Amino acid sequence: MGTLSNERSTALRSLPSVDRILQEIDGGTLPRILVTSVVREQIELRRERILSENTKVEAFEDVVESISTELTHIERSRLRGVINGTGVLLHTNLGRSPLGEAALQRVVEVARGYSNLEFDLSQGERGKRGSFLERCLALSSGGEAATVVNNCAAALVLILRYLASPDHPEVVISRGELIEIGGGFRIPEILESSGSRLREVGTTNRTRIADYERAIGPETGMLLKVHRSNFYQEGFVEEPTLEELVALGRERGIPVVLDLGSGALVDTENIAKLPHETTIAEALKAGVDLVCISGDKLLGGPQAGIIAGKKSHVATLKKNPLFRALRCDKMVFAALEETALAYLEDSENPDVSLINLMSEDLDTLRGRAEAIVRKVGYPGLRVGSAYSRCGGGTMPKAKIPSITIDVNPQGIGLGEAARRLRLGVIPIVAYLADDELKIDLRTVFSNQDDDLASALAELLRVVG
Ligand SMILES: *Cc1c(COP(=O)(O)O)cnc(C)c1O
Repeated sequence: MGTLSNERSTALRSLPSVDRILQEIDGGTLPRILVTSVVREQIELRRERILSENTKVEAFEDVVESISTELTHIERSRLRGVINGTGVLLHTNLGRSPLGEAALQRVVEVARGYSNLEFDLSQGERGKRGSFLERCLALSSGGEAATVVNNCAAALVLILRYLASPDHPEVVISRGELIEIGGGFRIPEILESSGSRLREVGTTNRTRIADYERAIGPETGMLLKVHRSNFYQEGFVEEPTLEELVALGRERGIPVVLDLGSGALVDTENIAKLPHETTIAEALKAGVDLVCISGDKLLGGPQAGIIAGKKSHVATLKKNPLFRALRCDKMVFAALEETALAYLEDSENPDVSLINLMSEDLDTLRGRAEAIVRKVGYPGLRVGSAYSRCGGGTMPKAKIPSITIDVNPQGIGLGEAARRLRLGVIPIVAYLADDELKIDLRTVFSNQDDDLASALAELLRVVG
């Protein structure tokens, strides 16, 4: 490298110092040390740019403004509650399943102090983590046994590690099920990273039991069926039933595993007349050896991966060193325990926050929408209708009729109106459709109605 050009040295010298910026900047609620590190990072960025691209330094005020914007952006990335007006019940970006009061109360009670997490109160000695929860989950899923890990992806990895052993590394799976769930979860890659070998059978749209039969060899460790959670196939399609797969597995002495993902415990057609979704009990009744599901999808609990099925398999899984690495925190146990209890208390209509949102009737939603519209008193604000969706890669075809609050505010674009709602004191995530800003009330909790009304009044008062 030669010597720096004059312009570059001048530019470098004119870079404001960290202290100088700090005097000008208000870091909001961010700790001073965090603000300082961001300012340092931003100045360093500019220094590198001068050296590599020969750019000029912006005016001092512009540097301050740009760093302030960055700080605001960072401050907004701090985890906080938002009002979900999208109507997407298991919105992956908004934290999937909300937890109800009872579950939260248990989390607070268990996590605030010490607990009997691994302590047997009867004997006064070391106890087993999750034994009560496992009993409840086994009972509500109809499995011989059940256990819990961090999420469904972890559950599948654990099962693969155990069943697709070095002696039997091959996993037989239909080409129609080599899916991607989202967040980078791709079945073929999960299989590979678990040290198993993929043995694809059939075609994208049609796989027959004979395809599985032909593929089984001395190295086959398991037959894996993966639920097509986030898409559906229609037309010239065919796949064997679970029962056929189980019969084949039994005949050849090979375990059959179902990655169910969404994992309903209740009949979804009873809630909001949704299409039927295979329940974990149905899968186990069909004879599947192990099923895994997500805790925070249709189950309506915290993030977790539930494994249910044959006792001997579950017991062996729990002895795998990986199980220890994938175990859940006490807060998850507390919330999941409460969720599982809700299902045991009422298996048809459990008092679970997500299920309550899904099954809320239209008249109630309409009444709330009318009250909000009345309260805001803006002429263009109306009660509308739309369909809520499951989201979270669950039941892509399912539509639940719902009630919305619609508005096309004069004077600002719809995108700008949505942005202002997002950046309010309590962030509100609305959606745009039919040239309108819409807020679906199915995913808004009734105790958020007042905040929603205030935010709408604020937005519409400003735009006039
Ligand atoms: C959602 C899903 C997963 C991943 O579940 P996480 O709990 O998010 O890890 C795995 N398999 C299927 C079929 C799914 O639908």
